[in-house]
Amino acid sequence: MTTMIKLIGIPFDGNSSFLRGPALAPARIRQMETAGSANEFSEDGKEIAKDKSYTDLGDLSFSHHDSQAVYESIKKRITQELTTSEKIICFGGDHSVSFPIIEAHAEKYKNLNVLHLDAHPDLYDHFGNNPFSHASPFARLMEKRILKSLTQVGIRTMNTHQREQVKRFDVSVMAMNDFSFDFIKTLRAPLYVSLDIDVLDPAFAPGVSHHEPGGLSTRELIKIIQCIPVPIVGADLVEYNPTRDSHHVTAMVAYKLFKELASRMME
Ligand code: MN
Ligand code: MN
Repeated sequence: MTTMIKLIGIPFDGNSSFLRGPALAPARIRQMETAGSANEFSEDGKEIAKDKSYTDLGDLSFSHHDSQAVYESIKKRITQELTTSEKIICFGGDHSVSFPIIEAHAEKYKNLNVLHLDAHPDLYDHFGNNPFSHASPFARLMEKRILKSLTQVGIRTMNTHQREQVKRFDVSVMAMNDFSFDFIKTLRAPLYVSLDIDVLDPAFAPGVSHHEPGGLSTRELIKIIQCIPVPIVGADLVEYNPTRDSHHVTAMVAYKLFKELASRMME
C-alpha cells in the first residue's frame, strides 16, 4: 500500500541570522519538476509525480510576519493537515520553521524521534536575542521535552555553548570529524527527518546561506535516506537559498532529496 504525501511550501526566512533567501526556495524547487531536465522517479523506481504520489498544497501565506505569529500560523496549519492519514513534507524556509512543524508532529506521534541532518546543531538558547532564530529550533523543541530522541548528523560547527546544550538535552551527535554510517541502525520509529541542505559540503550544494566546508557528499546523504530502517512519518527540507545558487544546481539537489524522501515515506 502506498501513502499519499502532502507537500507544503514554507516561504519564510525572517528568522535567518545571516542572509535572506530561503523564502524563495519552494517555487524554485517546484520548478525542477517542470523544467524537463530530470524525470520524476526516485532511485528505487517509484514515480514521485504531482497528483499521483503527492498533493501539492501550495505555499503557506502569512498575514503577519513577526516570528511569534509565523510560528503559530505554521503550527496551526500543520496540526490541521495531520488530522488525515497522509504524511507531510515541507520544503523551503529557514530552519526556524521546523520548530512548529516538528512540534505538531510530536503531538500526533507520541515518542517521536528526530533525525536532524545539518552542519549546525541549531541548539542556541537564544541567537541575536531571537528565541525563534534558525539557530535555535532544536533548543526550543528539546526544552519542551516532547521528543523521545534527537540524533544530529553532519555537525561540524559545535561550540562550547552548544556542547553544553547537547549534554543538557541528551542529544546524540554524529559529527563530521568522526563520521560513519553506524548511527543509522540506532534510529527508531516513529521517525521524523529534518534536513538542512547545508549538511552537504558546499561543493555539492553551494545554494545555502552558511557555507561550511567538510560536509557530506550528495551520495552519502542519499545513502542515509535510503538506508533508514524505520518508517518516516514526516520530513522537512530547509535552508536552500536560491540567491546563492547558480544554474539551479542546488535546486536540483533539493528536488532529488525531496523525491528520495517521498519515496521512503510512501512505503
Ligand atoms: Mn539548520
Ligand atoms: Mn545549517
